[in-house]
Amino acid sequence: MKITIVAGARPNFIKIAPIIRAIEQKQKAGAPLSYRLVHTGQHYDKNLSDTFFEELNIPKPNANLEVKSGSQSVQTANIMVAFEQELLENPTDLVLVVGDVNSTMACTIVAKKMNIKVTHVEAGIRSGDMTMPEEINRIVTDSITDYFFTTSTSATDNLIRFGANPEQVHFVGNVMIDTLYQNQHRFEQPTFWSDMGLEKGNYIILTLHRPANVDEEDSLVNLLEGIDQLAQGKKIIFPIHPRTKAILGERQLKTKNIVFIEPQGYLNFMYLVANSFTVITDSGGISEETTVLGIPCFTLRNNTERPETISVGTNHLVGTRVEKLVETYTTFLQNGMKKAGIPDLWDGKASERIIEILLQKEI
Ligand code: UDP
Repeated sequence: MKITIVAGARPNFIKIAPIIRAIEQKQKAGAPLSYRLVHTGQHYDKNLSDTFFEELNIPKPNANLEVKSGSQSVQTANIMVAFEQELLENPTDLVLVVGDVNSTMACTIVAKKMNIKVTHVEAGIRSGDMTMPEEINRIVTDSITDYFFTTSTSATDNLIRFGANPEQVHFVGNVMIDTLYQNQHRFEQPTFWSDMGLEKGNYIILTLHRPANVDEEDSLVNLLEGIDQLAQGKKIIFPIHPRTKAILGERQLKTKNIVFIEPQGYLNFMYLVANSFTVITDSGGISEETTVLGIPCFTLRNNTERPETISVGTNHLVGTRVEKLVETYTTFLQNGMKKAGIPDLWDGKASERIIEILLQKEI
């Protein structure tokens, strides 16, 4: 079986690393498998792309479609045009997509229109929020995918309610957590650690990049100035996403505790998260990682497609208004962390299960 693996953006790179590793292990054991890795070029900054390939030992992509930035539609269209050509030149049996970025949806549509089977890893998660580009990507992708791999039983239920064939929906666990477990022993203290006076538990990590939080400059400034008040003597380390940085521009902020740093590579970032007091974020992936690491997480969104991070894990959904964050955070400071565990099958073996299951299918 020939598999074309698609990756376009930072969270994709983190998800494909263990899948490629599982394929290579099966190849060594003699399984009839080969793969071709296609980078769509959706993320192209070194610190959102190349660093992850190097740190996670992901092989150099066989093709880079170099689509770069653009509006939602321009980017999606450019990926489609380039990926169609890629598949014409390099026929394949199966296209494997991960996550919920534009590359995920665009490549799924192209493959299905060429009668090529598609498998979606991290299928079925739903926020119910149609203002999120990712939610549209998830729904479109899952409506035409052939084989689904899910991170939770609620994602499986969503797919079946949506009309997916239950025989093609497989609850296998979480590939992002595979990467976490495979690299935990390599998490690396950043070079600025001592100079900034960082110690285990004496700082907060902040990440923000969702349009609802960052696209409107005044509300972003208001949010950051509100978050700054929560520090209580702790530094707030903020690896600023290029998207957020572009919106703030040269704006001067009245913050005293937030330390702006460049987006971090995976090994430094995970070291920072694993040793932090709390994390404040609007990322979905980070709410999964903090759940596994047992770090309290405050998600600045009105909904989440990852409900198990709240019901089982350490995540608190606090909306996008700073007042609610302050209220929830203050209760947490008074009562301590809620009792939390690790969701079922988030055990580091999801990728192996995926490849095992694909090998049993007649593709
Ligand atoms: N991440 C990283 N460096 C950073 C910020 C995030 O390595 O400076 C990692 C993080 O550990 C997580 C992933 O990037 O695995 C999440 O990416 P992002 O927030 O862009 O995507 P989302 O989870 O919102 O889809």
